[in-house]
Amino acid sequence: MNELEGFCVVLVEPQNPINLGTVIRAMKNMGMGRLRLVNPAAMDLDRTQISAHRTEDIVACMEVYGTLDEALSDMHVTYGFSARHRTRAWASLEMEDAVGRALGEIRDGLNVALVFGREQSGLTNDELARCQYRVHIRTSDYTSLNLAQAVLLASYSAFRQAGLGSMASQENYMKGTRPATQEEQTRLLKRIHETMIEVGFYKAATKSTAMHRVHNILTRASLHDDEVRLLLGMFSEVLNYARLVDRGVRPEKIRPVDEFLDGVRDDVER
Ligand code: SAH
Repeated sequence: MNELEGFCVVLVEPQNPINLGTVIRAMKNMGMGRLRLVNPAAMDLDRTQISAHRTEDIVACMEVYGTLDEALSDMHVTYGFSARHRTRAWASLEMEDAVGRALGEIRDGLNVALVFGREQSGLTNDELARCQYRVHIRTSDYTSLNLAQAVLLASYSAFRQAGLGSMASQENYMKGTRPATQEEQTRLLKRIHETMIEVGFYKAATKSTAMHRVHNILTRASLHDDEVRLLLGMFSEVLNYARLVDRGVRPEKIRPVDEFLDGVRDDVER
């Protein structure tokens, strides 16, 4: 089971069906499934569905309570989200820290509630007092986020901190590969260095920082094993070419059929 399903999102007196729909949509996007409403305004659920396609599962198990106490009765830890700075001293957490903590609690099998207030007026002090922690999401001076956006930010943070999800396209591209080992990266660096010597890149026999910089570039690129092999192959060809030219042989060139360099070929050939 996706551990984010362990979170319970509690909305206190939500007023607007579109907001409710957007909250549900945000929960669905981030894999949260449990939603409780406390004394919601009478709502036309059909309007909710406008912004919450394919979220029938969340709607179907959504629970409605008369009071916040009832909604929180089986929860072990409760986080109350508030946009406003309060005069009373509360145990306050930044959203990212709160979510990280909550993930740990969920892994320990605890029931965790994320409590959000009304669109117009947020949570009352009494309601906030029912939560163990007050949670704040950093913003500009204009601190009041839209309800669904607050839920989205919290659930997105939970999603990322749980290490879930990946870029679909990236996943395909990286399929069957793994990050290159230190040894593979060193082999590539050596090959590049040898090649640069053979093609006369170094103009003087003094120390050069070029390879350190290449090393930095490769580190930033977080190469995978197949990418290291590709670059090793390319530099090997350059190396061989340079050695053959040294011996007076001009190797045959083959143009690949894909026209990757179409737009820039002139520059390359000049
Ligand atoms: N005007 C209200 C804000 C309501 S926004 C007020 O000033 O309190 C609806 C709910 O979204 C809030 O009750 C809170 O739970 C959440 N929220 C909005 N902005 C937030 C922020 N910056 N940090 C934490 N929660 C926030």
